Amino acid sequence: MPKEMKYGTTRRFSRVVFLSLVTLGIYYILYQFWLFKDLEDHFKLAFTTESRSYPTTNNPTTMLIFLIVFPIYPIYIKYTLLHDHIETSKIKTEDNCALGLEAIFSFTLLCLCTICIFPLVIEYRWQKAFNNHIIAHEQ
Ligand SMILES: [Zn+2]
Repeated sequence: MPKEMKYGTTRRFSRVVFLSLVTLGIYYILYQFWLFKDLEDHFKLAFTTESRSYPTTNNPTTMLIFLIVFPIYPIYIKYTLLHDHIETSKIKTEDNCALGLEAIFSFTLLCLCTICIFPLVIEYRWQKAFNNHIIAHEQ
């Protein structure tokens, strides 16, 4: 279950994968929308405490529309925002997600030669990095 915390929402990726399989992928699109909301919420909740970090601000609705018509753009944005935010934040965690361009690369080329397993791995890492960052905020 998504867990509301003081500086954002953490989610379990294994549950997302399961529900996405059951709903033939529809849940995964919703999940992406929620992630953009999570980034936006984190920007609002943490702006005062980490105003010098790279902002995670975005428009979730615009990102959802792009996800359907031109998915490379929101994938790039999702990875870039979180990666640069964690990189520039004074709150240190061990995990970070892939860079925007690495994500694009794995979603296009590596998806074909690994039957989409590699993109799932970096998606899992994105969620893990986000969760750990949100948890580290409270410490
Ligand atoms: Zn933060």
